[in-house]
Amino acid sequence: VLRLESVRKTYGTRHKQTVVLRDVDLEVPAHTVTALIGASGSGKSTLLRCVNLLEEIDDGAILLDGEDITDPRADADAVRRRIGVVFQAYNLFPHMSVLDNITLAPRRVHGVDRAEAEERARELLERLGLGGKAGEYPDRLSGGQQQRAAIVRALAVRPRLLLLDEITAALDPELVGEVLGVVRDLKEEGMTMVIATHEMGFAREVADQVCFLDAGVVLERGTAAEVFGAPKEARTQAFLKRIV
Ligand code: ATP
Ligand code: MG
Repeated sequence: VLRLESVRKTYGTRHKQTVVLRDVDLEVPAHTVTALIGASGSGKSTLLRCVNLLEEIDDGAILLDGEDITDPRADADAVRRRIGVVFQAYNLFPHMSVLDNITLAPRRVHGVDRAEAEERARELLERLGLGGKAGEYPDRLSGGQQQRAAIVRALAVRPRLLLLDEITAALDPELVGEVLGVVRDLKEEGMTMVIATHEMGFAREVADQVCFLDAGVVLERGTAAEVFGAPKEARTQAFLKRIV
């Protein structure tokens, strides 16, 4: 579904440039889960933002279903419509009910009529355990419920690919499980996902592929068993030792 080829991303001006992603190659097959792990500042969020075209890459290419989405002629809105994104926090519009949050993009961007959008929204809310919350405003929900509603919103447009960036990082520990449970269910249903996470136990359990980023470089990549069970690189070993 998704392919990154020698992606390079820098921030800053010509005079003072920092390379944030360096020759990143990554292949995410359909119906698989890829976990991005690595220290703070290693480039995980930047990678996801490049895929969603929130950032422009300096070199290389990103292909979605074979189409080069970083080609200047690509239709960025059309690309974003195929990708669902959930961030760490502040995903929902505070001045809209949960239902309106969820049906906004399907109605406005995809031209789905209200009745159909609401039907799908209610179905998804039900599935993610938020059946009674359609009419609530986000501030009346717990952090975990808000994140689940944010996932519903991302799913409402039937994306090909779901990007999740530290979606449990802002949650109280007792709320983390319910959100991770949703990701687990989505995997069961065959959703293709790329997940940036500090939850190593979860990454190990859910990821088909684990990708260790070190200062913008994919230092090590393999199955969860390979990367967590027998990391090859000294820096991967050190990172995992530090964090677990
Ligand atoms: P974390 O685990 O803390 O979320 P991360 O792996 O997601 O970290 P990124 O947010 O991708 O890391 O940041 C990678 C590097 O890019 C960091 O050194 C950061 O300071 C830099 N960076 C990120 N966004 C910008 C920006 N808008 N302008 C300049 N530098 C940036
Ligand atoms: Mg990040």
